[in-house]
Parts: sequence; structure tokens; C-alpha cells
Amino acid sequence: MKKPKYIFVVGGVMSSVGKGITSSSIGYLLQSKGYKVTAIKADPYINIDAGTMNPTEHGEVYVTEDGDECDQDIGNYERFLNTNIYSENYMTTGRVYDTVIHKERNLEYKGKCVEVVPHIPLEIIKRIKTAQKKSQADITIIEIGGTVGEYQNILFLEAARMLKQQNPSDVIFVLVSYMPIPKRVGEMKTKPTQNAARELNGAGIQTDFIIARSERALDKKRKEKLATFCGIDVANAISAPDADSIYEIPLFFEKDKLGDKILSKLNLKNKPSKLNDWKKVVKNIKSVRQEVKIGVVGKYFGTGDFTLADSYISVIEAVKHACWINNVKPKLTWIDSEEYERNPKKLKELNQYHGIIVPGGFGTRGIEGIIKAIKYVRENKIPYFGLCYGMQLACIEVARDVLNIKDANTVEVNAKTANPVIHVNPFQAENIKANKYGGTLRLGAYRCKIAKDSLAFIAYQANVISERHRHRYEFNNKYKAQLEKAGLKFSGINPEHNLVEIAEYPNHPWFLGVQFHPEYKSRPLSPHPLYVQFIKAAKKRIK
Ligand code: GLN
Repeated sequence: MKKPKYIFVVGGVMSSVGKGITSSSIGYLLQSKGYKVTAIKADPYINIDAGTMNPTEHGEVYVTEDGDECDQDIGNYERFLNTNIYSENYMTTGRVYDTVIHKERNLEYKGKCVEVVPHIPLEIIKRIKTAQKKSQADITIIEIGGTVGEYQNILFLEAARMLKQQNPSDVIFVLVSYMPIPKRVGEMKTKPTQNAARELNGAGIQTDFIIARSERALDKKRKEKLATFCGIDVANAISAPDADSIYEIPLFFEKDKLGDKILSKLNLKNKPSKLNDWKKVVKNIKSVRQEVKIGVVGKYFGTGDFTLADSYISVIEAVKHACWINNVKPKLTWIDSEEYERNPKKLKELNQYHGIIVPGGFGTRGIEGIIKAIKYVRENKIPYFGLCYGMQLACIEVARDVLNIKDANTVEVNAKTANPVIHVNPFQAENIKANKYGGTLRLGAYRCKIAKDSLAFIAYQANVISERHRHRYEFNNKYKAQLEKAGLKFSGINPEHNLVEIAEYPNHPWFLGVQFHPEYKSRPLSPHPLYVQFIKAAKKRIK
């Protein structure tokens, strides 16, 4: 195999400039030219993983096949590269330090004084190389979290600098930066980006490309300024104007020949890009007119710095993918379930939706309101899709309402309930008792056997499937027989541990809950079959 190549993507001026989408889009472009590409996220946090971070502050926790709880950008990489990304591709400052300290305790540094530099950057480089080897990538993209100039990510930059020094012709840098257009001035300003490029110089790094995130595309004058003051080729100042859809970005970059330019910088052979399937998706996104109204019922407020869209990004993307293939476009509405606790009359408003989703969640707030909403959509035959907590609460609703077990509950809400329809297995009980919350949920891919004659089978067309999980509580098999009599169909079972994975309510147009998170596996080029069937059912409700 040829020498592996590395592209570091860093952010300038401010956060949320779209480093993740840029990294994913560059990755997709290079992949479409026949190269094997992988992407890594390096997060500056001390947290070992994203699992213990509040999604309303940090955004969605994304789960990989091998059960790592990662930053949401790993989800972007998987969606754009249409491939699975594993835990080797995610690191945090905490994870890096943890390893170094562990090695020190094991005498692996052979009596040396272990120091922040070089030992931390060396560990970062080691992790980058491990991820590259595992995926056999020709090109590895490493996205460094945070913004150039802040204290937090400096050791990741140092690692990048060292790797470049060791392999000058195999490492390049991409600075994704924001170009403001102040209203009063009416002209795009490059100065903040010039400063970011200079900050990067201070860390010993010269960027090769600048991706200019702005409302508009760069003009000739701005490109020349960036070239002169940031030390790049004029041709390598690349426009990234606001787009209607993130899936358009690779096509914007292709127009600017970014793929060709990167390959030339890396001394790799240029090959024609195969973008037809992607172009078809984008064409569909732009042409669909008919709207399908999906209500997402949950407990929403206090979203801190992040918006709901960040906390549920994979659900939103999965809905979009499924809509486009059904030739509709989604209109999502966030519905605060606590409203239904205060004022049950409001439940009637659910009628206006073509489908209802109850997404994953934790804790007690808003849960009674969600159960009321589930009862309403079950009785009024509105298509229902329950994700994780959404399946658990649907089982509780049927137990309460159809079986008349009024105090049916999950022990997450009431630890002492006499009827724990959702309970905790002995192994998890130990974790909870010992306050072991980090990385101890049921995480990652598990198999599931699908029953014939079920909605699940119609969707998957397979007897055994595998999906990703992130939950602590489980359906209590003690209630299975009764609930089956009440009309529930348990159409998906994990064969290894006999756990309920899918529950359906057949006397209904489409009512299905899953213990797993199918959204993690939905991609624009391969929408998830359950989401596709849910949207298909919702579409039937459009008058
Ligand atoms: N809170 C539930 C559990 O831990 C569901 C988790 C989820 O929805 N992701 O089992």
C-alpha cells in the first residue's frame, strides 16, 4: 500500500462554522474519486466520551456500531461516507490523557519523565495512525474540535504539526473559517480569517486551503486577499456559501474542483468523480413539494446553547432521507409533552399531524404527557414511531389503558412501582448502585430476530437484523403474555438475551416502537427501512 495521507481540518473565527460538514463533504468527494477515506474527530473535552454530556448543551450523542458514545460529527461522517466509523476514530483530551497516565502507571515509558509535550501529541498521532490502519484508508481526515487560537485544542494542533514535520508531502491543512458581512458595511470581511491563519502560523502550521463560510461566495478580490495575507494559492480559497441542504455542499466543492486540488497537493493521481447517485438525491431534495407533517413529542425546554435540531440531528436526518425517497418533504414540529399534562384538551391538536414520533430520552419530566399523547395517537389511528423511550412508554401505555394496570410504569420514573413493565436487569442495577454511569448503558449493535407477518418484516425483508442501542432499562418479560393478549405484537427479539427489541400494535395503520435507534444507520443513499415505512404510512394521511 502507498503511504497514507492525512488532511487536518481546523476551524477559524468561531465555532459552528461547519467543520463537520466540510470534513464529510471533502471525504465524500475524495471517496467518489475511488480513494478509501476515513474521518476522525478530536474533541478538546476532558470527558472520556460524549455519553455523560447533556445533549441540550453539547448536541446529540452519536453511537457507533462498537458502542462508542461520540460527538454528532461522527454521524455526519457516516452519512456522507456511507460507511461505519468505529471507536478508534473518536478521541477526546480526556481519552488521550487517560491512556498516557495508564501507560505511565504500567511503566511503559521505562522510567522517563512523562510530559505534556511530546507525550500527549505522540499519543494523539498514535491514535490517528491506529484509526488509519484499521480502516486501511488512503486518506484520513482529522477534524480538530474547537477554534484556532483557543487554549483547549493546542495539543491536537501540536500533534498535527509534528505529523507534518515527519511526513511533509503527506499532510495538508484545511482552515474552515467564517467571513462576516456586517450589515452596515455590506461587504465581506476577511480580516478575522487572516488573524486565524496567523494564529495557526503561531502553532507552526501553514494552511493549504481556506474554506470560506459565509452568506455569499467569495469574489475575486476576497480570494486575492486571502491568498496574499494567509499565504495560500488563490485557487485554494474556496467558497462555501450558505446552502439550502447540507447534502449540496459536496457538489459546491466539486464545482470549485476542490477534490482535484486536494489530490494534487497530496501528490495523488486524479481520477474522475462518480457523483451520480448523490446528484440524484440532491435533485430530489430540491424538487419535492408535497409536505408531510411530523410531530415530535418530547420534553422540551432549556436547550442551553444548542437547539433541538442539534440534540436530535440523526432523527431529523433519518426523517429527511425517508421523506425524499417517498417524494415528500418533512415539516417537523416539536411538541412539548408537558402541555398535555397541564391541559389534556390540547391532545386534539395531534390530529393535524400525519405521523408522530416519540424520540429517545431520559428522566421523568414530561413522561405522563408523552403517555397521554401515545394513547391519543393509538386510539385515533395516527401513525406512530417510538424510538427507545418511545417504545418503552408505548408498552406502558397499553398496559395501563388496555390491561387496566393503572400503576404500570418504568422504574426510571418510579423505582418502587408494583408493576415495572420496564425494569432494570441485575447487571445494570449494580452499575446504578455504584454510580457507574459512564459507558455503562446497553450500547452499540445487537442482533434482533424479526417475526414474519409484522410491520418490521415488511420494512426489513429479513429474518435477522442488527441495530444500535443506547439505553439502561428493558422491557420486563413478565408482562409479555398479558400484553400480547391485549393486542401488542413483539415482532423483534434479541436472540442472545431474549430481550424485546420491537413492539407493534397491529390494529392500527402503523404503530411501532423500537428499543434501538434506527436513525444511527440511516443515510441519504440508503434511507432506513423503518423510517421509510413510517413516512409511507404518514403520507397516506395527507388529504
Ligand atoms: N431512558 C430509557 C433507558 O435508559 C430510554 C433511553 C433512550 O431513549 N435512549 O432505557
